[in-house]
Amino acid sequence: MAECCNCGKTFFIGGQSIDGYRYCSATCSRLHPVIVTAESLPAATVQQFVEKWRHGDCPVCKRQNGPVDVHAEHRVISLIFVTQWHTRRHISCRRCGWNKQLEAIIYSTLLGWWGLPWGFVITPIQIVRNAVGLARRDTVAATEHFEKAVRRQLAAHQLQSARSAPQA
Ligand SMILES: [Zn+2]
Ligand SMILES: [Zn+2]
Repeated sequence: MAECCNCGKTFFIGGQSIDGYRYCSATCSRLHPVIVTAESLPAATVQQFVEKWRHGDCPVCKRQNGPVDVHAEHRVISLIFVTQWHTRRHISCRRCGWNKQLEAIIYSTLLGWWGLPWGFVITPIQIVRNAVGLARRDTVAATEHFEKAVRRQLAAHQLQSARSAPQA
């Protein structure tokens, strides 16, 4: 069992390995340069952008609704013998995060149960995980996930401008 260094998905078979980093798919492994650059960015620079983006407009509703952070929603869907579940993380304000978590609770409550045996095991877990997210207060400092997202944005930007810069 391995965890994808890009999307965080847990996978059992397949995937790709680059310099000890594991990726679940070719799409994720293509982002390897971004992941490596992101980790090497100086902490002071990253912190500056974390503060700036955290108190900026929400990328989803475009409003200034308090601190922007990463909010996770957990979904499950079953169809007789197949049950699939996943976690998605969104960068948004608290209110947009709540909306996604509520949506995920409704989705999972309606569609999660219809599989044996995993529907009955995973559905309550996903519902509780969303409920925990809903109940969570904004933290004073940005979460680790938000810092990671900021690092990747900066790294992607850096790599892109390096590529478009004229070659001397
Ligand atoms: Zn992945
Ligand atoms: Zn929002």
